[in-house]
Amino acid sequence: MLYEAVSICNPRLFVLNNLYLDGLDFEGGTDALMREWRRLFNTLTVEHHLLINADDPILCGGFVRGVPPRVTYFGVEDERLAIESRAARFTRCYRCGTVLSYRLVALAHLGDYRCSTCGWERPMPTIYAINVEINSNESRFRIITPQGPLDVHLGLTGLYNVYNAVAAATAAVSLGVKTATIRAGLEKAVPMFGRDERVTIHNRQARLMLIKNPTSLNETLRTTFMDGHPSRYLFLVDDEIDAGGDVSWIWDADLEVLATRTSTIYVAGSGADHLVLRLKHAGVEVTEVNIAIDDAFHQTMRHMPDNARLWVMATDTAMFELRQSLKELGVL
Ligand SMILES: [Zn+2]
Repeated sequence: MLYEAVSICNPRLFVLNNLYLDGLDFEGGTDALMREWRRLFNTLTVEHHLLINADDPILCGGFVRGVPPRVTYFGVEDERLAIESRAARFTRCYRCGTVLSYRLVALAHLGDYRCSTCGWERPMPTIYAINVEINSNESRFRIITPQGPLDVHLGLTGLYNVYNAVAAATAAVSLGVKTATIRAGLEKAVPMFGRDERVTIHNRQARLMLIKNPTSLNETLRTTFMDGHPSRYLFLVDDEIDAGGDVSWIWDADLEVLATRTSTIYVAGSGADHLVLRLKHAGVEVTEVNIAIDDAFHQTMRHMPDNARLWVMATDTAMFELRQSLKELGVL
């Protein structure tokens, strides 16, 4: 598909931000996708410019060898972001197949990596974020660019949004946009469909968090933990987790982290049973199970104390359904 799109549009600039292993089964997995992408990038010339996330060994491994276009690497450098990650334990060196060693993992399989067998390692990025401060409402960081540093206050949370911002800044710098203009643009960014949209009803706040795969669920939980006090969750899970007959992704998410925290957990939607079973295996107690998404949302909001916050963790179709109802109410 990308191949066809590129042959029609003929872009000069390509931004390659990440390639998660999650949910790629329908594409034939990352190997098939990378083969197609390599075929595409072999047709490019020095007129083209590839901007690649240096922290993603799958992307970097796929494109560094014999690629004719110009390449600029971007990334994030902050040791405080280090996490434990299941995805990083299985990522292999593109040259020799050895499982990579990480100095730090920042997000899924993204981080500072090296192959202990052949020595291949993360390329040095020329544009990167440092001093990354993320809380449950916003993030602040400095982007180092060849045109000077750029201090950004982003009204979005989550490390994935910091990566998105650095990718966007790298593209803008490559196109000759001034740093002050880039900063102003980033600071105007607002959440897109279900990606931390915020809704207030009768002094109670709901944060709408889309969950699509283990990475998005893990990262969303990481954001909720930044609250610093017990969280209230409503998981809205539709049958779509069954799409393609595959419910396995909820088993790959690190839901065990919820077992060690005090939280209130509601589950609703036609796929609720799958998630309840998964949570049970993770040792997590579910407070209430409901089937109707809309009812579950409004009941939960009604029974919350004033000024409380509800993290609504919803799969795609469930999120769509909830957003429609909130739009009809005029609160979204
Ligand atoms: Zn190697």
